Amino acid sequence: MSSAATLENLVSQIASNAIEVVDLTNTLSPDFPVLTLPEEFAQCAPFKRDVISHYDDKGPMWSWANISMNEHTGTHFDAPVHWVTGKDVPDGSVDTLPASDFVGPAAVMDFTAECAADPDFVLTAQHIRDWEAGNGQIPPQSWVLFHTGWAARVGTDAYTNMREDGAHTPGPDPSAIEFLVNERDCRGFGVETIGTDAGQGHVFDPPYPAHNILHGNGRYGLQCLRNLDKLPTFGAVVVASPLKIEDGSGSPLRVIALVARS
Ligand code: MN
Repeated sequence: MSSAATLENLVSQIASNAIEVVDLTNTLSPDFPVLTLPEEFAQCAPFKRDVISHYDDKGPMWSWANISMNEHTGTHFDAPVHWVTGKDVPDGSVDTLPASDFVGPAAVMDFTAECAADPDFVLTAQHIRDWEAGNGQIPPQSWVLFHTGWAARVGTDAYTNMREDGAHTPGPDPSAIEFLVNERDCRGFGVETIGTDAGQGHVFDPPYPAHNILHGNGRYGLQCLRNLDKLPTFGAVVVASPLKIEDGSGSPLRVIALVARS
C-alpha cells in the first residue's frame, strides 16, 4: 500500500471506529496532585485556571481563562533536559525534540496484580524478561507502558499514597531501565503514577533511576496516564506531543493511543 493510501485508510478506519482513539489522559484540574519534594527543595505549582470572561460583562460573546502550572503537572511528558544527566543531550528540550519521536508503538506491561499486593512493587530487569517470556519481546523504539492499576486511585489519597517517609507507589529499579534502554532501545517509559520513578525512588543507586537513565540516554517519560487497561499488550500506536515550550523540561499534554478493534 502506498503511504498516501495508508493515511487514507487510517482516517477512514478511525471514522468507522475500526481503529479506536483511546484517551490516556487525566483531566487537568486544581485538585490533581503534583509531586511533593523533600522540604529543603523548591516545590512545583499545581494547575490553576482564572476565568477572564464567561459570556458576561467582561466579555459578552466569549469564554476564556488564563492557566498556569508546573511543566510536570497532570498527564505530562518528561524531556531529556528535565534531569541533570540529560542536560547536554542535543535537542533535548520539548521545543527542539523531533516531532517524529512523539509517535511510536506501545508495549503494555501488566503488573496490576503485583502492584495491588504491594504499593512499593519494584520492577526489575528480571521481571521484564519473565514478562517477555510469556508475552513476547518489546519491539525497538516502543513507548513501554508500566500498567500498575494506579489510575483507578486518582481522586483518592491512595493515588500519591503519602506517608511520613514520602510516597509509596510502584516504579522501576536501575536494572529495569537499563534493560529497556540498552537491550530494548525503548523510546520512553510511561506510568500511571506522578513520577516515572517509584515513590521511594531515592533509595536506589543511582537515585531516581528512571529519570537518571532514561533522560541521560535521550529517552522520554510519560506520567499520570490512564486507560492502559484499554490497550492491547502490543500493537497500539501512542501519540504523545508535548507543548512547544522554549527550553521546556516537559509539558502537560493529551496522550492518545490508536487501537485496532477489528
Ligand atoms: Mn515529570
